[in-house]
Amino acid sequence: MKDASIRRANMDAMIAHAEREFPFECCGFIIGDATTEEVRPITNIQNRKHAEDPASFARDARTAFLMEPKEHLVVMNEVDRRKLGLRVVYHSHPDHDAYFSATDRAQACSFDPSEPDYPDTIYIVMSVRAGKFVRAAAFGWDPEKKEFAEINLVIR
Ligand SMILES: [Zn+2]
Repeated sequence: MKDASIRRANMDAMIAHAEREFPFECCGFIIGDATTEEVRPITNIQNRKHAEDPASFARDARTAFLMEPKEHLVVMNEVDRRKLGLRVVYHSHPDHDAYFSATDRAQACSFDPSEPDYPDTIYIVMSVRAGKFVRAAAFGWDPEKKEFAEINLVIR
C-alpha cells in the first residue's frame, strides 16, 4: 500500500492539537488534493455525550472521540465545494500507544463492517503520554485483506 505523506507544518498542527486536548482524545481531518493539504480540527463531544447519557456513551473522552456533527458537516461541505478529498482522519490516544483499536475500526466502517466509509482515507493515530506527543502511526485500508494495516508515515 502507498505511504502516507504529510507536511511537517500539518503534522505539527495535529501534534499541538493532541497535546492541547490531553488527557482527552483530539480528532480532526486533513483535507486536500495533489497541491493542497490543510488541517481541520474538530471538537470532541464525547465528554458531553457521556455526561448526558452515560448508558449509551459509556466511555468519556479519555478513551473515545465523537466529532461535533455541525463542524464535521462544515468540513464535508468545504471538501465538496472546493473539490478536495478527505485525506486523513486523525485522533489521539492519551496515555496509550498509537494503534488502530477495534473501536477505531468500527467507527471507520460505520455503514458496513466489511468496508470503510472512506476507503481511500488514511487514519492517523497519535500517542500522547503525560501531555507530550510520543509517536504517530498511519493506517490504510487493504481491500484484498479487507482490513486496516499500518502504513509508512512520511513527514515531508
Ligand atoms: Zn483510537
